[in-house]
Amino acid sequence: MAWDFSTEPEFQKKLDWVERFCREQVEPLDLVFPYAVRSKDPKLKALVKDLQDQVKEQGLWALFLDEDLGGPGFGQLKLGLLNEILGRYGSAPQIFGAGAPDTGNMEMLAAYGTDDQKERWLTPMLNQELWSAYSMTEPQGGSDPNLFTTHAVKDGDEWVINGEKWFTSAGRVADLLFVMCTNGMFVVPRKTPGVEIMPEPRNHNHIVYTDVRVPADHLLGPEDGAKVLAQRRLGGGRIHHAMRTISQCTLAFDMMCERALSRESHGKIIGDHQMVQEKIADSYASIRMLRLFVLETAWKIDNTSTQEARTDIAAVKFTMAKVLREVSFNALHILGSLGTTNLTPLQAMYASAPTMGIADGVDEVHKATVARNVLKGYRPHEGFWPTEYLPAKRAAARERFEPMFAADPELRDRADAYAKYLATKG
Ligand SMILES: Cc1cc2nc3c(=O)[nH]c(=O)nc-3n(C[C@H](O)[C@H](O)[C@H](O)COP(=O)(O)OP(=O)(O)OC[C@H]3O[C@@H](n4cnc5c(N)ncnc54)[C@H](O)[C@@H]3O)c2cc1C
Repeated sequence: MAWDFSTEPEFQKKLDWVERFCREQVEPLDLVFPYAVRSKDPKLKALVKDLQDQVKEQGLWALFLDEDLGGPGFGQLKLGLLNEILGRYGSAPQIFGAGAPDTGNMEMLAAYGTDDQKERWLTPMLNQELWSAYSMTEPQGGSDPNLFTTHAVKDGDEWVINGEKWFTSAGRVADLLFVMCTNGMFVVPRKTPGVEIMPEPRNHNHIVYTDVRVPADHLLGPEDGAKVLAQRRLGGGRIHHAMRTISQCTLAFDMMCERALSRESHGKIIGDHQMVQEKIADSYASIRMLRLFVLETAWKIDNTSTQEARTDIAAVKFTMAKVLREVSFNALHILGSLGTTNLTPLQAMYASAPTMGIADGVDEVHKATVARNVLKGYRPHEGFWPTEYLPAKRAAARERFEPMFAADPELRDRADAYAKYLATKG
């Protein structure tokens, strides 16, 4: 029977390399030049390229992509183990060619792009010569795609796009915008006339598309296929976020434990106070549960598909936000006043927890999806009583014993005695 939580020794060697590389080389870059991965400064680009070349030499570049789509094809479970390390370091995803929002866009291109589209956009995106953003949410509402109105109209050899998008992360600096229209997913170069980026918000952009003309071959996937492409993109993205969230929670947990052993109060180290112990124990269990859930979901995706694992992906999505909220709060609290400053990563981590419950779909919508899908596996009971109504179950069980009771009346007496005892208990 295959039921094994161990890591293959060969892959463990890769994980060890990644861990060492991130600690010794990525973290120092993060601390001194946190913006280096997107910088156009040749000196910073050279620093980044040196690290990226080392990643490529290890065969770890674009590790989110399956082999047939141009990546190393680790699958989601192994990617989960890798992301558990990368998630601790801000620029690690880009150093490994696996940074959002580009990853999801590349996944769509790899899965649905024509050869020409792949050559034009996917290859340069894989080489980080082109950056992209994903324009789906609209100002009038993000949770319900049926409210989206951005639309493309065919005009000769071109599509003409009109609409308004909200919270397109990194839209301002992207070369390509993947625009979800009611009738298809379109690739729009940001500099196309008619694309107007509003001054606010600064990082997640409000973009107005007015009579934006793109050639016919900028439609990605089939006409009217936007929702299918979006699901593929977001499903993968959500599980990858969850993988990286485990490492954020683990970082908070490490800090909490170190502090618990380092401070004294009222005659003992704070780790000996029961209320601190409770926070440590609860956080430990929550992280273990989240990790198992994420890895099991990754394993399910590998063995079925993102679509078939969608209930668990949705459940993982809101669970990670909850665990990050709890664990980062506990850690921040145990670090006391220092925890409330920006002198450790905790304040930013705790502040990011509500965001985690909104980005990639709000928790409520994912919870509704889970409940709806789970309920499809159940049926209403017949008559008044639930299936587990004990008097009815006991009566049915007694029926099964009738042939034995007929052959052995003393056995029936014992059953009757127990039934009488139950009746007296009400
Ligand atoms: C950091 C970040 C990055 C993002 N990046 C991108 C991006 O790159 N591209 C992009 O297109 N979008 C992006 N988004 C937008 C994101 O997809 C939307 O914020 C999200 O889908 C919710 O939409 P909304 O903000 O319009 O909230 P609304 O849909 O207005 O929801 C607001 C609140 O209403 C309640 N609610 C809504 N629907 C339901 C329901 N069915 N049941 C119960 N309660 C409900 C919930 O409390 C919810 O939090 C990003 C968001 C964040 C926070």
